[in-house]
Amino acid sequence: MSIWAYFEHDKKTLEENKEVDILIIGGSLTGLLTAYYLKNKNISVVEARTIGSGVTKNTTAKITYLQDRIYSKIAKLRGKTNARLYLESQKKAIKEYEKIIEKEKIDCDFTKVESYVFANKKSEIKKCKKEMEFLKNCKIEVSESELPLETKSYFSFKVNDTYEFNPLKFLKKIYNILKNSEIPIYENTTVYSIKKTNSTYTCNCGKYKIKAKKIVLATQYPYFLYPIFLPLKSYIEKSYICVKKVENFKNISCISSSYPVYSTRFYKDENNTYQICLGSSHNIAFKQNDIENFEKVKKTFKITDEEIIYKYSNTDIITSDHLPLIGEIKEKLYIGCGYNTWGMTNSLLAAKIISDLIKSGVSEYKNIFNPKRINISNIIKLPYYIFSGVKSYISSKIITNKSWYNKNIKVNNIGIYIDELGKEHKVKNKCPHMGCSLIFNETEKTWDCPCHSSRFDIDGNCIKGPSNKNIKL
Ligand SMILES: Cc1cc2nc3c(=O)[nH]c(=O)nc-3n(C[C@H](O)[C@H](O)[C@H](O)COP(=O)(O)OP(=O)(O)OC[C@H]3O[C@@H](n4cnc5c(N)ncnc54)[C@H](O)[C@@H]3O)c2cc1C
Repeated sequence: MSIWAYFEHDKKTLEENKEVDILIIGGSLTGLLTAYYLKNKNISVVEARTIGSGVTKNTTAKITYLQDRIYSKIAKLRGKTNARLYLESQKKAIKEYEKIIEKEKIDCDFTKVESYVFANKKSEIKKCKKEMEFLKNCKIEVSESELPLETKSYFSFKVNDTYEFNPLKFLKKIYNILKNSEIPIYENTTVYSIKKTNSTYTCNCGKYKIKAKKIVLATQYPYFLYPIFLPLKSYIEKSYICVKKVENFKNISCISSSYPVYSTRFYKDENNTYQICLGSSHNIAFKQNDIENFEKVKKTFKITDEEIIYKYSNTDIITSDHLPLIGEIKEKLYIGCGYNTWGMTNSLLAAKIISDLIKSGVSEYKNIFNPKRINISNIIKLPYYIFSGVKSYISSKIITNKSWYNKNIKVNNIGIYIDELGKEHKVKNKCPHMGCSLIFNETEKTWDCPCHSSRFDIDGNCIKGPSNKNIKL
């Protein structure tokens, strides 16, 4: 369950073989925005589940360039010039949202907010001041300002020109624009494999195939690429979200500067006002007990069980140099991913960059976000990535973590969840992606993979990739 309600629409699945110029795989923010920029071309979109059902459905949807201490981190690993360039790209993405929302008259609760970064530990004060200085030097209007929240803070600063929205209301309108432009969008259609012969890609969608001259991988985790590509450049981070009803809407968005990140924003729909609280972020290879992680969020934001309306977790890819991976990765194969949990701005940027590259081969951010880049950060972080990858695989095999679970869950080669009526739900306890054993997420009642974050419901249906197969017995 997420705070962003799905929109009803007629779903079309692929029912014939097809040939197109450009195939976009993944129908969420990155995929649909790329289709939006390419809408006068011969394109199709395929989506394994439904529109916006990926990471986007559980996002906090802040459209901001104030991204905890990201500029200090980029400057350290890639230099100040690249940090400035990244800041410029994020500001441009925000402007582009304003432009699209105004031009297309999109009703998506797009709201201007003040954004804060706060030091929740004394040791973070100096680091926060450094981030603030960087922004000042880039001519951003930033000021020291007290955090307007009860959450513990030793120092905080704010900017005024950031936004929030409802991502599914936004996607609904983009979807309708594409539909009116007669762009085919095939839902419940999974691409299982991609093969290139001469200058054509053939995508295997099960019963049918799609041939395309160009492919855009907008699947969040582009698992079609050589398996070692992403694990050597990134890790997967999981965060936990609790949503509670509140009396008053606050025009603020706040994020802690330290790791694990704690972050909050407010949202108002026709009937109620909510506070969305996120925290306890961690590399999925570690700290996997969901109950403990949700408890940490509740404690930080002083939320009681009775106040919680929604509770869910979400994962995103963190890259070694904190810059996204956007561009051409193989001949005429483009990717947009690795958004470091800042996918609202970066998915729009990816869509713009990829569509520019397809149309003209030129983009101002081609080099900085080049997905093939290798730099010092890859080398420094490689041992950590290898360690966490190996650890998650081995520990998933050895530790069954029975102590975490209530009596209604049994984990061995078969995972069993016994529901409130005593019915047993059995699944294969093995992720089809790379064979890791799964962890039962008691809060959301899903089987979660600790290696690459695939998720399955209690009956074994795959509800999130990179796995594209079920684990039904
Ligand atoms: C806890 C959390 C909070 C966040 N909050 C923010 C925030 O406040 N601001 C911000 O800027 N960013 C935020 N992000 C990041 C942002 O939500 C994501 O980066 C963004 O939603 C990714 O969008 P996407 O379209 O690239 O991927 P997704 O939304 O994951 O979409 C990928 C789509 O591809 C489909 N797919 C996958 N495989 C296949 C296949 N084989 N065939 C067909 N289709 C396939 C999936 O079904 C899915 O619909 C947050 C992330 C997390 C984890």
